[in-house]
Amino acid sequence: MNNQLTILGSGSAMPTFQNSPSGQVVELCDKSFLVDCGEGVQITMRQLGIKTARLYTIFISHLHGDHCFGLIGLISTLGMMNRTQPLHIYAHPDLEKLLRPMLDYHCQDLPYELLFHPINPRKREVIWEDRTVTVESIPLKHKVPTCGFLFIEKHRGQEPRKRYAYCSDTVYREQIVEQIHGVDVLYHEATYTERDLDKCKKHTHSTAKQAANIARLAQAGKLVIGHFSTREDDHNIFLDEAQQVFPNTVLAIERTTIDL
Ligand SMILES: [Zn+2]
Ligand SMILES: [Zn+2]
Repeated sequence: MNNQLTILGSGSAMPTFQNSPSGQVVELCDKSFLVDCGEGVQITMRQLGIKTARLYTIFISHLHGDHCFGLIGLISTLGMMNRTQPLHIYAHPDLEKLLRPMLDYHCQDLPYELLFHPINPRKREVIWEDRTVTVESIPLKHKVPTCGFLFIEKHRGQEPRKRYAYCSDTVYREQIVEQIHGVDVLYHEATYTERDLDKCKKHTHSTAKQAANIARLAQAGKLVIGHFSTREDDHNIFLDEAQQVFPNTVLAIERTTIDL
């Protein structure tokens, strides 16, 4: 299996024909991780032939609906597929409180074990680790407690270790640069462009230019931008703005993969 990122959704809060809300699959060292689970994630995974049987771990950045509304459907479907392996969800502790009544109502007889692991989004710490991969939380700043995730390959012989950082949703936050410095690939939200800077500040998001600035300061290998506002139909506006600051920027295009 390749080390790669598959974009399931790169829209913002409002689902549209063009974009689904946030979700991506990170494949690193023969492991698959689902990062955020907006509405529709399970359908896109199925369309792409992504095997949910190999999915053991889900990381949720924060509890806005566009990052977690897909969970209850996915959990239920995995039950119908007679899954037996446990599923681990790492998220703010409120997630379990929010989902519990729905699980009790809709998913009483899940054939597999569902385990919630509370994380503190304000703290930078190792939240997951095995023999080959470490995952750290990246404290972000948004309307509600939010963290990104830094995936780090542990060993790689003589070659440099792969590192991938996921940062959504957040205001421009230079404090993260030190932690993500030198990552191979950085995903950073770019909800707005500079012409909507006022809205961007109000809704605690970043512009494409700001995302590019973080990538430049962090000396990332590549920047992937996403979480696009519906205010712009043409995503090349985001791309142009970011590339003026950080040329090696690509759009997070749904149903495509990016090598890590
Ligand atoms: Zn969002
Ligand atoms: Zn949000």
